[in-house]
Amino acid sequence: MSFFKQDGGPFLIAGPCSAESRKQVFEVAEALKGNPVNLFRAGVWKPRTRPGSFEGMGEDALAWLSDLRKEYGLKTTVEVASPTHVELALKYGMDTIWVGARTTVNPFQVQRIADALKGVDIPVMIKNPVNPDVDLWQGAIERMNAVGVKEVAAIHRGFSSYQKTSVYRNQPNWPLPIELKRRMPELPIICDPSHITGNREIIAEVAQKAMDLGFDGLMIETHTDPDTALSDAAQQVTPTTLTDILSKLVVRGNAAQETNGAALEYLRQEMDSIDAEIVDLLARRIELSKEIGKVKKECDMTAFQPERWRDIVNTRGERAANAGISKEFIIEIYEKIHHHSINKQLEILQAVIKEVKS
Ligand code: PEP
Ligand code: MN
Repeated sequence: MSFFKQDGGPFLIAGPCSAESRKQVFEVAEALKGNPVNLFRAGVWKPRTRPGSFEGMGEDALAWLSDLRKEYGLKTTVEVASPTHVELALKYGMDTIWVGARTTVNPFQVQRIADALKGVDIPVMIKNPVNPDVDLWQGAIERMNAVGVKEVAAIHRGFSSYQKTSVYRNQPNWPLPIELKRRMPELPIICDPSHITGNREIIAEVAQKAMDLGFDGLMIETHTDPDTALSDAAQQVTPTTLTDILSKLVVRGNAAQETNGAALEYLRQEMDSIDAEIVDLLARRIELSKEIGKVKKECDMTAFQPERWRDIVNTRGERAANAGISKEFIIEIYEKIHHHSINKQLEILQAVIKEVKS
């Protein structure tokens, strides 16, 4: 079984955002006793958005973690952002390392880190890049695989957004980790609700959602006195709160029980036939749209007709509301359908231009 998978519960990574002092990391480790911690995390080099904030205790902190590892029998993990970091993390016997969101965005730097790991047998976790780009995330994982790292896991920590009104510090964009899992079915995925939420009050619900989606683990920032933390104070929880979060977590299995298996199969078959109808209907709609394109060409009309689009949004939105489903959801789907339809019509209109030119 993968290093990052646990039977019957999430693979749990806990520990402070940053290692602040020897006393602090030992206090956190002591207070975490009794929690099923698989890895003790602590940042020793902190990538801060603006200069002047606490940037970590560096090599000193690695020495504390190395002692803590021996004293508590805990496995440890730190963030690395350069080959020098890798070298030092290995020197102090860290059990795993992770690549942070601000590093995953940079393929040159990820490659340098991968090169430093050639021939080293250490599990590596790759946080998603700050921008919502699943290819970049997958690429960083592939760079680790390519140099022979055997155990790689992805960490979903959410994506930056210009929109600051959201309840989240980083948008979860759940379809992205789901897409990554579709592409790499064997890859363990760990959710980091601390960095997604930025707010300890909503960590439990995001952790639950990750469990409901079948994620393999959780990384939760833990501090004995969160409000005084030198980084990410608002999102850290005490070890007692962590125990509480874990005790309320419902962990679901992957396989349906024997008795419910038949019901699930029946419902899935019904869903398959509805999906087949949806695809066939869309194919018919696209054909109609092309016919409309030809008529527009003859009438010398533009492909995009704002009045018609407004009407589609209103009528389909209203129909959705009457059917008891989300209007926003249907409009979002129609944006895609309409866009595709306009593109098909543009192909027809542009064919005219080419004919005229030739
Ligand atoms: C962290 O884990 O403390 C951290 C800096 O994370 P991220 O790379 O997700 O911002
Ligand atoms: Mn943090």
